[in-house]
Amino acid sequence: MKVGVAKERAPNERRVALVPEALAKLTAAGADILVERGAGEAASFPDAAYEAAGAQVVATDDLLAQADVVLRVQRPTSEEQQRFRSGQVVIGLLQPLTEPAEMAALGAAGVTAISLDALPRTLSRAQAMDALSSQANVGGYKAVLIAANAYGRYFPLLTTAAGTARPANLLVLGVGVAGLQAIATARRLGAVVKAYDVRSETKEQAESLGAQFLVLKSLADASGTGGYARELTPEEREAQQRELNDHIAGMDVIITTAQVPGRRPPVLVTSAALSQMKPGSVIVDMAASALGGNVEASKPDEVVVTDNGVAVHALTNLPATMPAGASQFYARNISAFLLHFLKDGTMAYDFDDEITSATVITHHGAVVHGQTKALLEPAAEGAR
Ligand code: NAD
Repeated sequence: MKVGVAKERAPNERRVALVPEALAKLTAAGADILVERGAGEAASFPDAAYEAAGAQVVATDDLLAQADVVLRVQRPTSEEQQRFRSGQVVIGLLQPLTEPAEMAALGAAGVTAISLDALPRTLSRAQAMDALSSQANVGGYKAVLIAANAYGRYFPLLTTAAGTARPANLLVLGVGVAGLQAIATARRLGAVVKAYDVRSETKEQAESLGAQFLVLKSLADASGTGGYARELTPEEREAQQRELNDHIAGMDVIITTAQVPGRRPPVLVTSAALSQMKPGSVIVDMAASALGGNVEASKPDEVVVTDNGVAVHALTNLPATMPAGASQFYARNISAFLLHFLKDGTMAYDFDDEITSATVITHHGAVVHGQTKALLEPAAEGAR
């Protein structure tokens, strides 16, 4: 079976789906690896390194013509999608719930689309495949470095002959995978860290990394299903906001990571709260996208400086800014995922298996993934 590694073409994307060190396991399982010319270049993996690891480097046309399975990070471009052929398999972070119509088109073309972001993350045997976690981890780390770089003072407490620098007060809003890494990184740099999440189980996790957890009087817990948060009611949101604002005003640095699956990210830092912050404060909004972010003022992929001198950074693809490290983790995830499907050198689909049934989006000419199918129903179309 021929496994192709595609070159990413999304704006600002620098990661690659497989790194040279990940090839051995796949070749041992019977896969021949084809790498699109220049696929790893932006992540510092030259074509020669893939060749040395046993892959064949090929032109774009040859990759699309020959590969039985195409591995990617992001969704293929529409041009690439049109060139897939029936029976071909594409695996990546395809975001089927954001772009269900693209999935329908791939299905109609006979392509099997398998999405790593649909993985059931709480299954322990899926942990090695959990690309959302590995990439959120990179993002949480990088967000703190960006904040430290932009902040005009020290993060740690420093006592010198020229005086004492107070440590930075840093708040992490949203204590999932990214938030936990942000706490750990900020603590390593010596900041005094506070953290807040609507899931009460995160208190212990944040405290174990050295953060002080904020317990709000107005909101006890908003855990949803599968370890995720549920959306708050308007009353809960307002109460949360009021209490959070008091804490926000005293912070030097804020990292926001709060997400609710399938919904717009909640606004946790309003423009009114921003106006109460000190000049020179820095916010990194990790939840920012075209849909909005956790900070009312954020603009995707821009740095907004408010009238009172607060800088709001809203990079939408932080893992791509650390492409070699992020790709190394991603390659391990996608290799383990591919090996889950490989039986006797070919792709095998056991729809009784939880990982397979949750992640195969299109197969045999149709959309087979329940949630994606529901979004394509005429009623859902009308409601969108
Ligand atoms: P996420 O990116 O969906 O959200 C980030 C955080 O934002 C979450 O902790 C969420 O509770 C929080 N949040 C949402 N709304 C909020 C609000 N209004 N105010 C404050 N915080 C808010 O989360 P994630 O990092 O993808 O992780 C989600 C869950 O999945 C976690 O429970 C994590 O432990 C779990 N998980 C489990 C495994 C595993 O069991 N192996 C692996 C990965 C993730």
